[in-house]
Amino acid sequence: MSIITAITTPFGEGGVSIIRVSGEGVFDSLNENIDLINLMDKEKNTISFAHFLDEKREKIDEILVSKFVKPNSYTGEDTVEINCHGGIFITNKILKVLLKKDEIRLAEKGEFTKKAFLNGKKSFSEVQGVYDIITANNETAHKLAINSLLGNTEKMIENMRLDLMDIVSLIEVNIDYPEYVDIEQPTYLKLEEACAKYIEKIEAIIVESKKGELLKSGINTLIVGVPNVGKSSILNLLSKEEKAIVTDEQGTTRDMIQVKVNLGNVDLNLIDTAGIRKTENKVEKIGIKKTIDAIDKAELIIFVTENDKVLTVDEIEILEKIKQKKYITLINKVDLSGKFTTKNLNNEIAISAIKGFENSLLETAIVKIFGIDNLELNNFDVLSSVNQIAKLEKVKILMERVKVSTSEKTPIDLIEIDLKEALFLMGQILGIDVNSNLLDELFSKFCLGK
Ligand code: GDP
Repeated sequence: MSIITAITTPFGEGGVSIIRVSGEGVFDSLNENIDLINLMDKEKNTISFAHFLDEKREKIDEILVSKFVKPNSYTGEDTVEINCHGGIFITNKILKVLLKKDEIRLAEKGEFTKKAFLNGKKSFSEVQGVYDIITANNETAHKLAINSLLGNTEKMIENMRLDLMDIVSLIEVNIDYPEYVDIEQPTYLKLEEACAKYIEKIEAIIVESKKGELLKSGINTLIVGVPNVGKSSILNLLSKEEKAIVTDEQGTTRDMIQVKVNLGNVDLNLIDTAGIRKTENKVEKIGIKKTIDAIDKAELIIFVTENDKVLTVDEIEILEKIKQKKYITLINKVDLSGKFTTKNLNNEIAISAIKGFENSLLETAIVKIFGIDNLELNNFDVLSSVNQIAKLEKVKILMERVKVSTSEKTPIDLIEIDLKEALFLMGQILGIDVNSNLLDELFSKFCLGK
């Protein structure tokens, strides 16, 4: 069965649903289910009005049929897209008619995009971009995704790979063709310099990519503070839902509550916990232990304290635990005295959870703390997938090792092992197998036969 199909629009009622059918023979196969036009003769890249017919040739729905002829389709194969009415029943009914055909089967998750990759329609980074654009939920995440989708990430990594190849090729030539005296012999010094420059470039990309990653998936944020300072009220305000229970009793928010909060360009994965407080209460103790664990894992801490009160012993203890982390101090309940008194802590923001406050106050502070205000929005030298970033970090480690080996004048063929591994990883970031073509590519750059 070479033809695959699936509903490509979200499941549920809507104005229109789209069913994609892709594979060799699709026009022939669907011709018997579509009237008014002949799919075989229809010109490529056209949309036509028709009816969808079931196996008994009964009209099931009015549809728009798009015909894409390979390679000019999403998957790179002959493809038909059926726009039908958006009801769950009717969409499923059309899908069922299609699936009754021997030659058609249900597409697996991501299979259309997988085909696009296998048929050379999309590169590895572009495929990543497709996924990211679907899941993007803020402006920057969207810009990052479109950057991948347009192939900019691809070009950047390809250039990095070519730079690395230049380094490898010098060594390669030196090993394999020592008799070519007119070829520049790589000096260790040159190699060391090249590595240093390369590592610098990688570091810059990693730093920017991590900022991008934070923006994309949200910053894991923990709200901490002693009981009754207003943590739950702040969480409620930010999440605009009554997720946490606000009470006058101390220690009522005993367990973790997690909420995704969008603050314009930044998303927070917000965790509220029981206040850190020495307690004999067993249930609350569990909550407090979780808080301490969560501090370690959080990327940002929001420390809540009350205006016009000196820091308590417990609060000083909390501050001790968070002092190494990125944190914001929310000085709450300014409405009570009407004036704000500084506590000389990091990033103080005076608020009143009762009166409400602008999310942008928090956003501005967070953007500054993480340095994401200067993330170049139009010139993204960034990777957008965690997987790619992890691979680039490995390349960095390898290149650092190469640099050290070079400075220690380790034999060139040993250094080459790490370099080739780095090159292989760069290829993997691009989604290509470099090993098979490595030598061809390398020596096409050198006119050895001259
Ligand atoms: P938590 O224990 O830190 O989660 O604190 P809560 O959010 O449960 O709040 C404790 C009490 O303080 C509640 O009675 C809130 O209504 C009150 N509260 C919270 N924020 C403010 C504020 O900005 N001003 C005033 N006046 N009261 C507040």
